[in-house]
Amino acid sequence: MLTNEQTNILVVDDDHVTRHMVSQILKNSNYNIFEATNGKEAVELYNTVSPHIILMDVMMPIMDGYAACKEIRESSNFLELPIIMLTGLDDVESVKSALDSGATDFISKPINWILFEQRVHYALHARNMHEELQNQQIMLSQAQQIAKLGSWELSLEDNTFSISEQLRSLLRLSPDEELEQLSSLVDFSHPADKEIVRSHIVDAMSNGVGYKLEHRLMGKDGSELYILQHAELIKDRTGYPVKIIGIVQDITELKSSQSIIHHQNHYDLLTDLPNRRLFTEKVIKDVIYSKNKNTSVVVYMVTLDNIRNLSESLGYKATETILISFATRLKQLQSDHIVISRFNDSTFAIMLKDFDDFSHVTGMAEAVLNLTIEPFNIDTHEIFISVSIGISIYPIDNNSAEATILGAENAMLNASKEGGGRYLFYSEHSNRQAQERLEIENDMRKGIERGEFIPYFQPQINAKTGKITGFEALARWQHPNKGLVPPFKFIDIAEQTGLIIPLSISIFEQAFAQTKQWADDGLGIFKVGINLSIKQFSGNDVYEDVNTLLKKTGLASNQVDIEITESMAATKTDEMIHILHQFKEMGMEISIDDFGTGYSSLSHIQKFPIDTIKIDRSFVTDIDESGKGIIAKTIIAMSASLGMNVIAEGVETTTQLDMLLEHGCDNIQGYYFSKPLPASEFPDFIAKFYSESNLQKENA
Ligand code: C2E
Ligand code: MG
Ligand code: MG
Repeated sequence: MLTNEQTNILVVDDDHVTRHMVSQILKNSNYNIFEATNGKEAVELYNTVSPHIILMDVMMPIMDGYAACKEIRESSNFLELPIIMLTGLDDVESVKSALDSGATDFISKPINWILFEQRVHYALHARNMHEELQNQQIMLSQAQQIAKLGSWELSLEDNTFSISEQLRSLLRLSPDEELEQLSSLVDFSHPADKEIVRSHIVDAMSNGVGYKLEHRLMGKDGSELYILQHAELIKDRTGYPVKIIGIVQDITELKSSQSIIHHQNHYDLLTDLPNRRLFTEKVIKDVIYSKNKNTSVVVYMVTLDNIRNLSESLGYKATETILISFATRLKQLQSDHIVISRFNDSTFAIMLKDFDDFSHVTGMAEAVLNLTIEPFNIDTHEIFISVSIGISIYPIDNNSAEATILGAENAMLNASKEGGGRYLFYSEHSNRQAQERLEIENDMRKGIERGEFIPYFQPQINAKTGKITGFEALARWQHPNKGLVPPFKFIDIAEQTGLIIPLSISIFEQAFAQTKQWADDGLGIFKVGINLSIKQFSGNDVYEDVNTLLKKTGLASNQVDIEITESMAATKTDEMIHILHQFKEMGMEISIDDFGTGYSSLSHIQKFPIDTIKIDRSFVTDIDESGKGIIAKTIIAMSASLGMNVIAEGVETTTQLDMLLEHGCDNIQGYYFSKPLPASEFPDFIAKFYSESNLQKENA
């Protein structure tokens, strides 16, 4: 606030006596007084002394008070400068003219000297208050500018909406552009944030609640900003809500420095790969995820062999170049299920997450070893480097993320001790398992080439008519050393390695040829059931394959029964349905195998062109165990209502047979009639079967 000594007062009057009186009284209160005798002098003085208040006579020569007042107002940028007219014309018209010309107030002559000083004092006080307020507003706006704060205000009384200069500039609007309403802010939000901004604004307007929200803003020029918006409901003294005020802070720089800091804390500067910290965090996260899903996580630790010697002979820079090149090669292995990290100096870590296909474990290690086949170029030298790899698997080897990482490190050290250029598993157990799988895989590959995989045939019988209707072709591996290997020992590995494709082709071809042969031999026109794997439906033209084999063997397509399991039907849909329709159009039959175990819904199954439902063996076994066979009965009833055939698998006992027949399931496959037989035994089986049943008829 100004003191009286700091306050300049301009007194304008052509009448010497009045001017002198006024000045004298004010001088007594220590104000600085400047005097002018007419309007023109007043304007000139105004420009040089910047008075804080002007007392102005109206009627003066050269330029009267109205004109002077007008001119001063026009040149002044401080609207609240008090100009008090001293008017002798104490009538309404002159007062009005005074106010029109920009005067703040008037004092009528003759002047009441007792009140005079109080009037001046009061006018000065009001002026100072205004100035203070204006200064505060300027300071606030400057502070907002520095803090990158914009603001908006929504009046709840008349719904008017206004935005501050600073918000206007954040939105990249020109100074004269306005936003019509609060919801216009939604239009300026990043597309991905629009919904959340909208819902906060709607909530604020309908429920009168404030909000605090971080989101991206799109300026009119397309620039993107991160902002923090803070809206508060303002109430009047009686507690009645009057407006909502929003403060908008530009936090773009903060965000970007946060993300730089985050990056520096989590990524290796040299290779830009995740560092040890981020890698460990990710392993911890994925171990938790795997625990819930019953899948596995594999950690590989990969270290460059002899890096210390290399560093000594080639220098630090050359070592860095090799590390960078190796990291680049590792990045080629990157996929959704893999995390690659620079774990420490010369050690990299790899995580294979959320997987259940163990044949890939060694595959990954081989792939990393292969990255070192090509030399590294340092200046003009070609340097060959080998790596040692340690592998640890959660939950097989270790039961926590940290232990799995440590396990891989230990295995890596062992691999390195054994001379490097190799991989080792953490445990003997997983080492052996991996070796075995690798051996089986190689063995199978050879076996397929050598024709060691052959179909066995298990008859399917209509117990009502006593006729053999067909048989299911079931794969067997005639291993040169191990003897006859059943499917449960090789189908999984075959599926995981893709060997199921050549294996199936081999089995199908032999089964088709055999079925055709028996037809030609007059043994009967049988249906041959073949089992399709889910792998045959993805990226492989199984329809084409089966057709080629039919042509090659000459078997009629209506002698083929395609079996897919219920669980396959539950996972694949559109693509599989399309292929099955193609099979059906060719005259083949479609059966759903292992029915009742796949948890598929009836409505889902109905999308498939199905002829036959095969009741899973477990429900047939249950007939003996519980004596009821409720599920088998339900499946039979359901199949009948859907107009589908039904066949029971794994029928072994008379009890099972009787119950199935009683409830209308006539088609039977199981040891009761026959185990799966090699082709050579099948003709004898047929002969024996019919002669026995004739015998039964004769006896009957
Ligand atoms: P599946 O298709 O459900 O075949 C029926 C299985 O039940 C066969 O086992 C058969 O030997 C067995 N079985 C039949 N009747 C009885 C019985 O009365 N008692 C008992 N205990 N078992 C009975 P197998 O031959 O060991 O085949 C097992 C599974 O391997 C098959 O189940 C099928 O899913 C798969 N498989 C076999 N061959 C192939 C093939 O060529 N390709 C594909 N993708 N899978 C095949
Ligand atoms: Mg089957
Ligand atoms: Mg089955």
